Amino acid sequence: MLAGNFAVVALFVLLWSRMGYWIKRVPRPGRDLLFAMGMSVGTVAAMYMAVEIKPGIYFDLRHALLAIAAFFGGWPAAIVTTAIAILYRLPSSGAGLAAGLAGIVAASLLGLGVRAMFRKRATRTWHVLVMACISAAGAALAQYALLPDGTLTIMNALVSNAIINALITSVAAIAYLRSWQLSSERELMAAALRQAPDYAYVKDAAGRFVAANDAAAQLVGKASAAELIGKTCFEVLPEADARKQHEQEQTVLVSGRPVIDQQYELVIPTGETRNFSSTRVPLYGPDGAVIGVVGVMRDITQQRKLQSEIALNRDTLSYALSEMNGGLAMIDGTGHLIFCNDRYRECFPYTGHLRVPGADMRTVLAAVIASGEQRTAPRQHDPAWIEKVIGGLTGDSDEEVQLVDGTWLQIRSHTTSNGTSMVLVSDVSRFKQAQEELNTATDQLKQLARTDGLTDLLNRRAFDEALENEIRRSSRTGTPLSLLMIDVDHFKAYNDHYGHPAGDACLRQVAELLRDSLKRPADLAARYGGEEFAAILPDTDEDGAYLVADAFRRAVAQAGLPHERSDKGHVTASVGVATYMPDNLDRNGLELAKAADEALYSAKAAGRDRVFGTRVAGKERRYGSY
Ligand code: GH3
Ligand code: MG
Ligand code: MG
Repeated sequence: MLAGNFAVVALFVLLWSRMGYWIKRVPRPGRDLLFAMGMSVGTVAAMYMAVEIKPGIYFDLRHALLAIAAFFGGWPAAIVTTAIAILYRLPSSGAGLAAGLAGIVAASLLGLGVRAMFRKRATRTWHVLVMACISAAGAALAQYALLPDGTLTIMNALVSNAIINALITSVAAIAYLRSWQLSSERELMAAALRQAPDYAYVKDAAGRFVAANDAAAQLVGKASAAELIGKTCFEVLPEADARKQHEQEQTVLVSGRPVIDQQYELVIPTGETRNFSSTRVPLYGPDGAVIGVVGVMRDITQQRKLQSEIALNRDTLSYALSEMNGGLAMIDGTGHLIFCNDRYRECFPYTGHLRVPGADMRTVLAAVIASGEQRTAPRQHDPAWIEKVIGGLTGDSDEEVQLVDGTWLQIRSHTTSNGTSMVLVSDVSRFKQAQEELNTATDQLKQLARTDGLTDLLNRRAFDEALENEIRRSSRTGTPLSLLMIDVDHFKAYNDHYGHPAGDACLRQVAELLRDSLKRPADLAARYGGEEFAAILPDTDEDGAYLVADAFRRAVAQAGLPHERSDKGHVTASVGVATYMPDNLDRNGLELAKAADEALYSAKAAGRDRVFGTRVAGKERRYGSY
């Protein structure tokens, strides 16, 4: 009878572990209820086959099923099983009724108690053993306590009831636990395979699909994995693709070595060509022989496309950067170099090697000073200059620096919205040189425009300007100002006699003598027109002016330039002098020139080769000869 009881417990527990797999699609509460019902039927069956050890006192293995139901099924199962067991036990009544009911309740409660004790952890074998021992012992003690005195000895109760129940509970519960663990493992594996985003399949040694996920099936145009099972590549792929797949699988099967990340193209049912990465791992049977292949394929079309786009962009960009004529650098907000092209490095002969990504521009600038690379940089270490340059990177800036070898670099920087400065460096030496040449040419042109071509003295236009400037300056400073007007005597006759070219040569000599007669740097000599000259003598009073004028007159006479048509026999010149003295601040260039001209006229009239002077005193003029 006991064996029969054991058989009932084993049958129900095992039946349930099978059932658990069959009814896995039933939602949770329904499954729990089915479990509770199954365990209840088991309990009732066990009780039905009970051994009546004394009248009204039964022994069976109900506690095992009750405890298992409570332990694995929780409250709902415990309540259902306990209630049904009690309902079944009540009509049998007898002397052991109270004890029987107590045992039923105790087994369920203790099963629940141990469940609660371990509820936070995954169920382990020893949890089950603890549950079996506690529930069997507890139920036996509860029964014993309520049995009529003398029905059983305590030893009887424990041996006949607790130990046997504990053993049976342990065996049955461990069996249940194992099969439950196996089935949940299998479910997990199946779910993992089914839901994996990659294409996964298992093939046997003959190349037939044994398992596959739906993704893999759809890849070869099948609706679900079931349609793929049992087929080979040749039945689902175009001939050429199938042969390739088959060959690769054979490699794995024969060598027994996995092939990882093999990349190839495949035409999928939509007609698209896509790239895949495939990994095939051999499956070994218990005897160590290869019995199949596990394959996982991943669609890497998008990834490949992106990679080639990135490579193309990178190549184009780096080509552009290396070929561009200017240096380009990117510097972050903290003053560190993020990127630069080779041209940028080449622009700096002494510090190019330091200009690499990651370099702190402060260190680079310190090296610029130390090496004397830039003429425009300070001679000695100067943190303020370094910070100024770093600070200048923010915002837009444009500056030109000259290197020690004379090269001019234009450095332009622009700060982007994320605080990175883009720095463009160009060699502007040629431009600079051209600019300098242009400046020189302009200066020369200006000089030419102010110079008399024959004598190299100031020309009339430059004289007029100079006279205005000197008039203003002397008015401001209240200093005297003198003007000499010079005219070569009988020059028409000279020209007529010696010819025009000789006349020109004579004028050049007279100009030279005039230049030599002006000793102060501020004095200015000009060709006023024809054979007339003028000299402006700043800060020179009438006496001084006379001395200069007469020295010149004498120099001309003493030069002894032959002039056969002059009564003197040599070239002479007459000079008219006009002077503004410090007391006269109401000055005017025209008036001074007119006064000097008048004095010159007087000198001519008085016989030539002489100096006549005028002091311009307000509106009243004083004439006189020196
Ligand atoms: P005067 O003593 O009164 O000054 O007599 P002059 O012959 O010098 O008279 P005037 O000043 O009127 O003569 C100017 C002459 O100077 C006219 C021209 O023959 C000559 N002349 C003017 N400019 C030039 C020049 O650039 N080259 C040459 N060779 N001769 C010039
Ligand atoms: Mg003249
Ligand atoms: Mg003359």
